[in-house]
Amino acid sequence: MGFIMLDETDKNQLEQLLKHELKELTLSIYELKRLLEPVSPDNAIGRLSRMDALEMQSVNTTKLQNQQNRVNQLQKALLRLEKNYDFGLCFECGETISLERLKLKPESEYCVSCQQILDAR
Ligand SMILES: [Zn+2]
Repeated sequence: MGFIMLDETDKNQLEQLLKHELKELTLSIYELKRLLEPVSPDNAIGRLSRMDALEMQSVNTTKLQNQQNRVNQLQKALLRLEKNYDFGLCFECGETISLERLKLKPESEYCVSCQQILDAR
């Protein structure tokens, strides 16, 4: 393991991307947590039946968990990027992850081929 050579422009761009994603997710998590606060039975559920409300709650709980996982990944990626350590290297095979992939998904921990294998499991 080591590091990949990123020029300053790419590094800054990826750093901005990571920070931007983190900010968006933080807001979204805040909103979801607010939605997941228990609602008293006579409170503004409106036309939603109790079943609908429960279903929505379960959907939002899953969403919240996914987003919290992603925040962890993004924070780890940001740390790796800032320390210039192991950022952009595949956790599985150690190969460099392409810059295009990193720009789409800066928290990528695997290269495309390893990711495909992992997803297929
Ligand atoms: Zn790989």
